[in-house]
Amino acid sequence: MPTETPNPYRLLPSVEAALRSPEVVALEPPVGRELLQAFVAAELEAWRRAIQAGELDAAGVAERVERGALAAAVAGRVAEEAGRGVVPAINVSGVVLNTGLGRAPMHPEVAARMAAVAQGYCVLEVDRFSGKRNQRDERLSELLQRLTGAEAGIAVNNNAAAAMLVMHTFAFGREAIVSRGELVEIGGSFRVPDVMRSANAKLVEVGATNRTRIADYAGAITPETGLLMKVHPSNFRQIGFIEEVPPGEIADLGTEHGVPTAWDLGSGRVEHPTAGPLDRVGDETEVAEAVASGIGVVTFSGDKLLGGPQAGLLVGKKEAIAALRKNNLYRAMRLDKVALAGLEATLEMLLGGRGDQLPTRALLRATRDEVRPAAEALAADLEGAPFATVDVVEDRSEPGSGSAPGTYLDTVCVRVTSTAVRPGELARRLRSGAPAVFARVQSDALWLDPRTLLPGQHEGLVAAVRSALEA
Ligand SMILES: *Cc1c(COP(=O)(O)O)cnc(C)c1O
Repeated sequence: MPTETPNPYRLLPSVEAALRSPEVVALEPPVGRELLQAFVAAELEAWRRAIQAGELDAAGVAERVERGALAAAVAGRVAEEAGRGVVPAINVSGVVLNTGLGRAPMHPEVAARMAAVAQGYCVLEVDRFSGKRNQRDERLSELLQRLTGAEAGIAVNNNAAAAMLVMHTFAFGREAIVSRGELVEIGGSFRVPDVMRSANAKLVEVGATNRTRIADYAGAITPETGLLMKVHPSNFRQIGFIEEVPPGEIADLGTEHGVPTAWDLGSGRVEHPTAGPLDRVGDETEVAEAVASGIGVVTFSGDKLLGGPQAGLLVGKKEAIAALRKNNLYRAMRLDKVALAGLEATLEMLLGGRGDQLPTRALLRATRDEVRPAAEALAADLEGAPFATVDVVEDRSEPGSGSAPGTYLDTVCVRVTSTAVRPGELARRLRSGAPAVFARVQSDALWLDPRTLLPGQHEGLVAAVRSALEA
């Protein structure tokens, strides 16, 4: 008589029993009981489906139970859960201002100031010498004045908010004149005409896509005009037969007709005599230059070329900034203590002669020869990795975030090819590992660009790449 084959379903532990096993109990703290139970149930359900499909028999189930495969699989799900959300990452994509990776990395001292105010109370809306209530961005405004030559400054959540605040303050229910060549979309969710509509401003387009003259602006001014606005086309560049109106002429036209003027600069190139210039990012207008043109309000991002935390900075004429401050929307867009502390610390470093130490500035300014030693050290430490060929190749990095369209930075990369793992799969393993690593896949290889590698990340990167290469 043949022995009866045992029923594999009977050998599966129940969810309750699994949740009592010490190996599974130990996994509870980071995720909590409810999620742990869901992970156990999902894993057991996967085993049940494997039995149903004939891929797992009783012996297989017994073997899995014996070696603790359930707890191991649940541990994998717990680890993945712990790595979700906003966690640190290593950027070897070579894109310096990578929006997907949080744009500007902070200097350790700046990060420490931010952490210090986050952890406790701080002096935010009180002058501690007089004891009187003050504006939270009073200090920031002073620093912005010193850096840009503007009469006043104010800060909001990001530059999209800054542009919205400008349109809403000066052109709500009125007309805003913009050149057709500047009605751009930036980064998918910021479209000048759409922001205008949200601010309840009536967009008046002037000129042609490639040419706009001052007479076009002048001819469009009516008693309903609330704003003359210039927008930096950022990630979009025109070449050939083009003509743009000099900002000084727009400023003069505004003054002549009593109409406010604004310029959304976007990337906001800020220079200081003690810091090396950001001349490698092309011919970006400097904030100080834009202010000097006489335009009423100039807006730019805190986390693009300036290299600070996410913010929208608005600098310009005293009355214009005061009008922005009076708008109810400012209250809804204002910065929190952490971002403010980070911005102050960033600007203080720049004004105090330490601008070259700001990570974003240093990464944008590094020459190919300055990147090379990091690439060579990386290649040397990856030598002998399983199934891999590693070489050092010249390539180009990008400033990113539309801060200098069509501009590239000469760099040196480490190219990794594996006979066992496809480059796309290598990139996936690196992204989902700990630490998370973001590299480039191009020309059928994995490219690591050390331009964006920060101090202290070399060892972790080497270990991550070596482990991803294990077949
Ligand atoms: C980047 C950019 C924005 C959006 O700025 P955020 O700080 O990302 O909100 C708006 N306008 C221009 C011209 C830009 O370059």
